[in-house]
Amino acid sequence: MLLATLRDYVEQIREEGLDGLPTQAPGADAALPPAAPTPARDKVAGPRAADLFAKYPGLESKSSLEQLREFIGDCRRCKLWPMRTNLVFGVGNPAAELMFVGEAPGADEDLRGEPFVGRAGQLLSDIIERGMGMPRSEVYICNVIKCRPPGNRNPEPDEVESCEPFLFRQIEIVRPRVIVGLGTFAVQALLKVKTPISRMRGNWHELRGIRMMPTFHPAYLLRNPADKRLVWQDIQLVMKELGRPIPKRGGA
Ligand code: URA
Repeated sequence: MLLATLRDYVEQIREEGLDGLPTQAPGADAALPPAAPTPARDKVAGPRAADLFAKYPGLESKSSLEQLREFIGDCRRCKLWPMRTNLVFGVGNPAAELMFVGEAPGADEDLRGEPFVGRAGQLLSDIIERGMGMPRSEVYICNVIKCRPPGNRNPEPDEVESCEPFLFRQIEIVRPRVIVGLGTFAVQALLKVKTPISRMRGNWHELRGIRMMPTFHPAYLLRNPADKRLVWQDIQLVMKELGRPIPKRGGA
């Protein structure tokens, strides 16, 4: 019991440092043990739609990603806007069955205006394409926060509060069958909990009627490649839920 608590604590601390160099090339954890049996579903509600959308009158009526992007416009609703190069809205299939939600754009994403295009993004692409056997363009990828926090610091509560109505609208428009929450920050922001990712990952949660699987952030995996096997277990649960074949070897 004490050991389990200590392990959670250590994992939480380890995940908070997301800026490390890779110690192992992608692909090194190709052969992994089968996933653990699906644990019981842990139902956790996200914020109520009425509370979220009331903040921005007119948001609820946006019914396509193009309309939503237009609504957000040249956003100046929080203090991040003067520092950004590009607002990073999201990318991928607007009718995706599978959506990945990360934390916030980094330097590469800010420059390109696209989520997950840096080193962590390359690992995410490997997870999707080599691990899951799906083209990256088939899924939808976005972040909780649409503008880069300076120095890649954690987003602050007022920034989350300003930006999250857009994320929840994005989720409602895409309406995927499964959401994969990447890392502590994204999962805690989505589910409004304070539970460490190490305790949430591997368990199904429910977010506004959509199944959600928390897993480790790819940037965390760059620092802790041994935990790729846990992400591969989570990804196998996602593939099973989507009724898709599980490729023999998880390539990422
Ligand atoms: N990390 C994130 O959480 N999102 C990105 O888009 C890039 C890195």
